[in-house]
This record gives sequence, C-alpha cells and structure tokens, in this order.
Amino acid sequence: MRIAVHDKDRCKPKDCNFLCIRVCPVNKTGGECIVEDPETKKPLISEALCTGCGICVKRCPYDAIKIINLPEALDDPVHQYGVNGFRLFNLPMPRSGVVGMVGSNGIGKSTALKILSGEIQPNLGGEASWEDVFERFRGHEIHDYLKRLSEGNIRSAYKPQYVEAIPRVVKGKVKDILEKADERDVRDGLAAKLNIENALDKDVKSISGGELQRVALAACLSKDADIYLIDEPSSYLDVRERMNAAKTLRELEDRIVLVVEHDLVVLDYLSDNIHVLFGESGGYGIISNIMGVRVGINEYLGGFLRSENMRFRDEVKFDVRPPTSKDKTMKLLEYPDLKKSYESFELDVEGGEVRKPSILGILGPNATGKTTFVKMLAGAEKPDNTDVELNARISYKPQYIVAGEELVASLKIRGDLVQRFRLAHMMDKRLNELSGGELQRVAVADCLSKDADMYMLDEPSAYLDVEERLALAKYLHGFAYGRGAAVLVVEHDILLIDYLSDELLVFEGESGSSGKTSKPLSMKDGMNMFLEQMDVTFRRDPDTGRPRANKPESVKDREQRGRREYYYTGAG
Ligand code: ADP
Ligand code: ADP
Ligand code: SF4
Ligand code: SF4
Repeated sequence: MRIAVHDKDRCKPKDCNFLCIRVCPVNKTGGECIVEDPETKKPLISEALCTGCGICVKRCPYDAIKIINLPEALDDPVHQYGVNGFRLFNLPMPRSGVVGMVGSNGIGKSTALKILSGEIQPNLGGEASWEDVFERFRGHEIHDYLKRLSEGNIRSAYKPQYVEAIPRVVKGKVKDILEKADERDVRDGLAAKLNIENALDKDVKSISGGELQRVALAACLSKDADIYLIDEPSSYLDVRERMNAAKTLRELEDRIVLVVEHDLVVLDYLSDNIHVLFGESGGYGIISNIMGVRVGINEYLGGFLRSENMRFRDEVKFDVRPPTSKDKTMKLLEYPDLKKSYESFELDVEGGEVRKPSILGILGPNATGKTTFVKMLAGAEKPDNTDVELNARISYKPQYIVAGEELVASLKIRGDLVQRFRLAHMMDKRLNELSGGELQRVAVADCLSKDADMYMLDEPSAYLDVEERLALAKYLHGFAYGRGAAVLVVEHDILLIDYLSDELLVFEGESGSSGKTSKPLSMKDGMNMFLEQMDVTFRRDPDTGRPRANKPESVKDREQRGRREYYYTGAG
C-alpha cells in the first residue's frame, strides 16, 4: 500500500504556484491526482491515482510531500491527522509499571500519549465512534482501558516534552505551583528526591532548564492519576539528576506510567517493558508489540524486531574496545596543572595530555568548569598559576547554541557533512527558524567543518532523538580516527560516552562554585570513579555489549559494590 503525506506547515503554494500540480504526470495526462483543496488552498493528493513516480517529492521546493510504500499486512491506522496526514498504527499497552517508548522524533510518540490521555479520540484513519474503536480492539488487552477512557474514568497526569514553554503558561512561585498540583500529599518528599528544595522560593520564570524539568516532574507525579504520561524526562538533566528522576518515576510502579525517552541508559533503567516505534518520521509510525526492556532495547539497537519480522535499520554495535594503544596515537598537546578563579568560582585541573586520534569523554555536573578548561587550552582564558602559552586550535560547539538571523547556507558547512547530518532542506532557512534538533545538527556539522587540531562538542545529544544520537556517535568515531583529530565530548548520555570515549575526564565539584578534575583517565578508572560518585553500578549486556545500570539492591548491584567495581565487570 502506498500513502501520500503532505506537510501543510511547510507547503507554500503562493511561492511555487502549485508546482506539484503542474509537474505530476498523472495530472498532465488529464487525471486529477493532485488538486487544490478549496478549503485549505493547499494540494490534496489522491493515493488511489498516484503511481509513486516521486516527481512531486523531488520538485517541491519545501520538502512538503512524502510518497511512502508501507510494509505489507498493516491494519488500518488507529489514528490519522486528516487526508494526506500522518498515520499511527497500533497503540501502546497501558500496563501497570513503567512502559517506555523509543523511536525517532515525528514517529507518533506524543500522538500515542495524547490518545491514551483522552486528549485525542482515535479516528481509525477516517471517522470513527468509540463503538468502532471498541470493536477494533475487541479481545485486546487495551480494550477495557479504552472503554474506561471513553467514559471519562481515566485520570491522567502529563509531563510535556518542552519544559521551557511552561513559564509562558504557568506563573508564580515554584512552591505555590507544586502545592496546587499536590493531590497525593507527596510534595515535600518529591522536592527532596528531585533536589528542588533550593528552587521552591523562586519564581518559575527565573529557574534553569534543569530545575524546570524537575519541577515539572514533581508537579506531574504529585497528581492522583491512573496513568502518568512522561515525555522526555531527562532533557537538561545531568547524569545524577537523570538517575534520580528515573528512580523517582519507578516508585509509581503500582500505577501505569508511560515514558518517552531518547537516552537509552535512562530508558533501560526506568522501564519494565518497552515499545519500539518505527516507520518514517512525519509520514507514519508503527508501535511494536510490547517487549521486556532488555530484549526490546537490544532489538532496537539491532534494528530488527523479531515478533514483527521487521528490519528498520542496520545494527548499531557496541564492541567493547580495548584501550587504544599509545603507539597508535601521538601527543597533540601537553598541559600543566591549571588553576582559575572567578569571583565566585574556582577551578583546579591536574596536568595531562591530549592525544590524536582520540576521543576524550568529559563527564560531570553543569557549571563545574568544563568550558573554562577548554578555553584555557585554546588560550582564550589565562590560567592564574602558570605562564605556559597554550594555544591549541580548537573548534568549539557550545552547550547553548545562539540562533541568529543568518542563513544556514552562510555557515559554509562541508558538503559531506550536509549530507551526513541531513541539512540540505534547511540551507535557505535562518538559524532562528530551525527546531532544537535541527539547530543542534547544524551546530555540530559547523563545528566539524572547521580546520582545527581539536574539536570540542558540549552536549551534542541535546534535542537529538535516539536515532540521531546513534548516528552521531558512529560518525564522530569515524571522524576522529579518519582525520587523525582529537575530539572532546561533554555528554550526559552514558551510552554515547561509553561508545565514543578512549579516555575520560571526570569533573567533580559544586555547580557554580568549584570544580576540579584529574588528568585524563582510562575508561575503566574514569567510569568507576564517576559511577561511585553517582552511587550506581553498571554491567554490560551479554548480547550487545551495551552498558546497563543495575537496579538498586539487585544481586549484581550488591556484588559489584562489594568489589567496588562500579563498571566494566565484563559481559553478563
Ligand atoms: P513524536 O512525539 O514521535 O515526535 P508526534 O506524535 O508529535 O511525534 O507527531 C507525529 C507526526 O504527526 C508529525 O509528523 C507531526 O507533524 C504530525 N502531527 C502531530 N500533531 C498533529 C496535528 N494536530 N495535526 C496534524 N499533524 C500532526
Ligand atoms: P561548565 O562548562 O562545566 O558548565 P563553565 O566553565 O562554563 O562550566 O563555568 C563554571 C563556572 O564559572 C560557572 O559558575 C560560571 O558562571 C563561571 N564563569 C565562567 N566564566 C566566567 C567569567 N568569565 N567570569 C565569571 N565567572 C565565570
Ligand atoms: Fe508547492 Fe510543495 Fe506545496 Fe506543492 S507541496 S504546492 S510543490 S510547496
Ligand atoms: Fe503525482 Fe504521485 Fe508522481 Fe507525485 S508521486 S507526481 S502525486 S504520481
């Protein structure tokens, strides 16, 4: 079956004068395959008449049309956003405990959450009554849930994806906001667990992204609901905060909790079961059968869903790499002990060296001096304790990317990176017209396009979906070794750090007041030190080699703590 998907927001018929209608070969021979919709004044595409030639897709200047062949043997969609709109197949299973959802952006995760919360009534691809919906799901586990939903007997609580939008809608002091939401009398406990006690007296418009995320979680979890729908809980949070948020969510285990998450270590730690969503972003999404979390994430990384017999991409491999031998790399830069004080911040760095090719992972809380350290290597900040001249040529992608008026095309991004990071359709847009994920891809590609000795990427995974993260990790690895460069990556996504890094710099300290770090450590020593601080142990999955956090107090957790091996205890 072939479907035509048309993005009305992108489409600008006034600019192109309905080019698609003019170029469609079916139209040229007198057919009415693409016509102007008198209501919306935009094109409507007939799936029955379309031959799938793809000419309109290629010619549309705004990338507004997709013509997609669907896999065979699909039922009708559960929901479709109008004619030529996105289609969602299947629904997630609202089971008690935590059910995770993983997949690219634009694949239908929020749509699924909205259906389960009752915000959207499923239309089965056309027009459908609740009776039609019950008939469709007769005999399915979800049938009774949908029945209760239709009767208004499901209370839901929702943590939105974009927490930065919250202060535009919710006003006042954090304390008052949480008190209003607190239907379960758990406010104080949640504030302590999520570490937001210092934010309680602040106005919601003056708190940081990380605080906003934790306040939003606390407000959602303090509702007395049957189902908690949590969209991306780890954005803006550092590793400790992510694990804390995950632990807190797990405490709701007798209720139904559905979580969308792109950090696979967090998703794994959080969930009892998961659904994988696959299909084509913006076109259609299929929700897999429910799977146990270990098998589900393994199949996701493997790119193949056994029960659906469906391959949706190549496998992503996590070979446990032996440390790169020093013979194969050369010294790029040696730096002495470095100290730097600002008015209210002190940084203490033990001397070390950066080698090439290599990837140096950097872990640590925000505002502990990671950027200041890199600026000292580049000579942009002078250390207080030494006159040694450091002037490494560093290309730097900051954590917060400023989006100005300039055109993407004016950045002079290398052609191979335009392809690799799928930027072609953005070239004639301005930076401030891009979505968070698009801007991140542009900023990373721009950083890697420069000629430098060292490339420093501060949180490149922010706003990227899980597929983009995996693709980025693979690319960076090839980039460092292919070009003989040194790449420094600050990240809170442990899977990426684990996959990428040859060595680790672990920053410790108190956000905003002090920071210190030792010389670069081996992965084993660095991760051990870091995870001990985080108070969580990790093992490796025997099938894929990926790192997995042990559940607190599990047998593995206790054994590893006993040996003080927080990491790298081999497969198993
Ligand atoms: P995800 O949460 O996986 O990023 P969404 O469920 O938000 O995906 O969106 C899936 C697709 O549905 C997107 O292509 C989006 O543009 C489209 N979509 C979402 N909401 C609407 C709507 N109200 N009307 C039309 N299309 C929509
Ligand atoms: P990180 O990269 O780990 O987030 P930074 O190196 O950016 O940390 O900053 C560490 C601390 O130093 C922050 O509290 C920041 O406000 C402070 N700081 C950074 N640069 C300056 C400066 N030029 N003057 C005063 N304080 C600064
Ligand atoms: Fe023009 Fe593309 Fe819209 Fe067709 S879909 S009217 S080609 S912008
Ligand atoms: Fe027409 Fe279909 Fe070809 Fe597009 S893909 S030009 S709608 S026949």
